[in-house]
Amino acid sequence: MKPVVVAIDGPAGAGKSTVSRRLAQLLGFQYVDTGAMYRVVGVLAAERRIACEDVEALDRLCRETSITFRDDAEGRTHVYADGRDLTDAIRTPEAAQWASKVSAVPQVRAHLVAQQRALAAKGGVVMEGRDIGTVVFPDAVAKFFLDASPRERARRRAAELHQQVSEDEIERVARDIAERDARDRTRAHAPLKPAHDAVYVDTTGKSIDEVVQLLYEIVTARRAELARL
Ligand code: C5P
Repeated sequence: MKPVVVAIDGPAGAGKSTVSRRLAQLLGFQYVDTGAMYRVVGVLAAERRIACEDVEALDRLCRETSITFRDDAEGRTHVYADGRDLTDAIRTPEAAQWASKVSAVPQVRAHLVAQQRALAAKGGVVMEGRDIGTVVFPDAVAKFFLDASPRERARRRAAELHQQVSEDEIERVARDIAERDARDRTRAHAPLKPAHDAVYVDTTGKSIDEVVQLLYEIVTARRAELARL
């Protein structure tokens, strides 16, 4: 049976994670954060001092590491590498940069894309990332490209890291995500870009509820349309 996939792509801080998680709950689908998988590989590579140019070592690392997700009693999704909980370790600004560097390596992408496709084989899934609609699931039932102004994206990311956010902190995060987005958009393999058939949603100034509702209506209409064919 063909997996039912909702693909959500976009740059850092566009609101993908919160929106994807909520949309998955509404639809009764599994939520998959593919960025977490690239972050795990980035953190493990940094720990083992594997350089991004050492394609062979990165290939081996991906082949030998099992990445799994499990929700705890409070509904927080934990990510594990061979059973080791890396949920907090992957959320640092350094881990984001490492993820962006290792994700440019085609061998790393090939391993993770295969795992992402296998995850969707179990039923409906809302999958978020950078290349879900373009590469991982070009036949997704619905595709969205979430975006927001650079300042709004920096403010959201800074707020995730600290409770009180100063102007300086927003500036620092803005530089950080601009560097990462530039790398993600210009890499040769699976660059960050909207799929030709993705619905572009600018989330600047919109509430989470508003965006989730919009996406839910589009997915529901699309599924009804496909059922009539
Ligand atoms: O989504 P998140 O910010 O956690 O992703 C971290 C990094 O992982 C991104 O900057 C990007 O380089 C990489 N990534 C990717 N393809 C995906 C998901 C994430 O290249 N599908």
